[in-house]
Amino acid sequence: MAGRPSDTEILEAVGAHAGRRGIAAGASDPGVAVLSWQTLLDFRIVRSVETRGERAMRQPGTRREELADRPTYTSISSHRITPPADPSRTEVWLLVRRASLGEEWCEDCDGGTNLCGACGGRGGRECPRFVDCPACHGGPDSCWECEGTGRSRSRRPAHLRPGTTPADRAARVRCERCRTSDAACPKCRGRRQLDCPDCGKSGYVQCGVCAGTKRVTHQECEGTGRFTVWTEGWIHQNPHHEKERRLGRLDLRRTTANAGRWQETVLRTATDKLPDDLDEADRTLLTPYLARRDGEVARHATLRRLPLAHVTLPADPHHVYYAFPTHSGIEVTTRPTGERVRYFAVIAAASVAVVALVAILATLLLR
Ligand SMILES: [Zn+2]
Ligand SMILES: [Zn+2]
Ligand SMILES: [Zn+2]
Ligand SMILES: [Zn+2]
Ligand SMILES: [Zn+2]
Repeated sequence: MAGRPSDTEILEAVGAHAGRRGIAAGASDPGVAVLSWQTLLDFRIVRSVETRGERAMRQPGTRREELADRPTYTSISSHRITPPADPSRTEVWLLVRRASLGEEWCEDCDGGTNLCGACGGRGGRECPRFVDCPACHGGPDSCWECEGTGRSRSRRPAHLRPGTTPADRAARVRCERCRTSDAACPKCRGRRQLDCPDCGKSGYVQCGVCAGTKRVTHQECEGTGRFTVWTEGWIHQNPHHEKERRLGRLDLRRTTANAGRWQETVLRTATDKLPDDLDEADRTLLTPYLARRDGEVARHATLRRLPLAHVTLPADPHHVYYAFPTHSGIEVTTRPTGERVRYFAVIAAASVAVVALVAILATLLLR
């Protein structure tokens, strides 16, 4: 792989790093260190994938002006549009099929309005001028003396007449018909009826739906009395993302991502090739991602690679050395070997057990 340091350069850098840690390794001496290479991979591809179709449109009103700005087409499947410069963007195209634009009258109204259904096109309705008093129900209870007639009519025996106690009479008012005090319903004052609150005694109420105009707007055509019809073609370009990554051990990723001199290859078309110096296994891994997809109109793929050397030194058996190229040279870093990590984990667990045991013994002895 181009841009990969030689084994000698790596071993020199590892030797210097080990030296600083106090290990006289002789890393670059032949046959001392064991070196193997791994390539870190970060491959991403975004395609713009296109779908197309047509639909019949019918919208209220006149829309010619608004639609005049839209591009036209003859056949939606073969209509050419520019692939997006940035495949990660979503693009939507709305077009008008040539000669499909027209207008038709609304068949369900007369110039945008219809007769008001609520009032039957009369604009209002007759209404009684008076209504029965809700307190006495317009009946004989309107006045204990005249029953709302103006002449004394009570034929009930005196002991059965209401209003004989002072408390009863206190709730009554003077009758407007017969002028008797403390005998009439306080709501209608003996009149049995009240002015109608709906028509204010006029005998007519305006229709609340059409406000007296007798006609209402036809909702479907929005009162325009016509529809614009056309065939709409649509083209959607949507981004589809895929990736394949091999970023190595987790605790090294930040270091390699920030400091590494990654080698980048950009592929912009389906005929652009993967780099010649790609490992065969990686070529096999990535090739399926490069196949052209149905509806693909543009792509942007980036392949980033970083060679990572893995070095072990007999003089430092509990560490692994990792080395990779940076913009200023070679970065070396160490990690404990797997055995070393397990060894410390065992010691840590044993220490916890000992501490627990001591604590238990201490508690027992102190009792
Ligand atoms: Zn209409
Ligand atoms: Zn009406
Ligand atoms: Zn009324
Ligand atoms: Zn009365
Ligand atoms: Zn009343």
